[in-house]
Amino acid sequence: MSEPQHLHPDTTAEDCIFCKIVAGTIPSHKVYEDEELLAFHDINPWAPVHFLIIPKRHIASLGHTQAGDEALLGRIMALAPRLALEQGCNPYPDGGFRVQINTGTEGGQEVHHLHVHVLGGARPWKMAV
Ligand code: AMP
Ligand code: ZN
Repeated sequence: MSEPQHLHPDTTAEDCIFCKIVAGTIPSHKVYEDEELLAFHDINPWAPVHFLIIPKRHIASLGHTQAGDEALLGRIMALAPRLALEQGCNPYPDGGFRVQINTGTEGGQEVHHLHVHVLGGARPWKMAV
């Protein structure tokens, strides 16, 4: 039995669920959008605040980023703390948030379009680590 397409590491932009979210053919609850980035709530949240930041351009994983992608990665990281507070994470140091990028099968990546998880809010979380 073959794997669902969205789980396959060779997913292309044509059959990528996050590309479809960017295109608007799959709905999402957006929290931020600009020319190159989109942020939206995770459909299966592990924490009181759980959203994803993605590049609109299809990049399969963090392992697929190239020399020209530093600015894009920097913009995602710079956006994370701002959106975390906007979405209800408590302030540092007693609050805070977690930024997580699962990469590849052993890294726990299921959707093969680069995405940055931002998690926060009061404990306990569903994923307790
Ligand atoms: P990862 O295991 O890092 O690839 O995480 C993929 C994440 O995407 C999971 O936390 C899913 O809950 C989330 N996800 C999958 N489909 C959707 C969707 N249509 N809208 C929002 N989040 C989604
Ligand atoms: Zn994609």
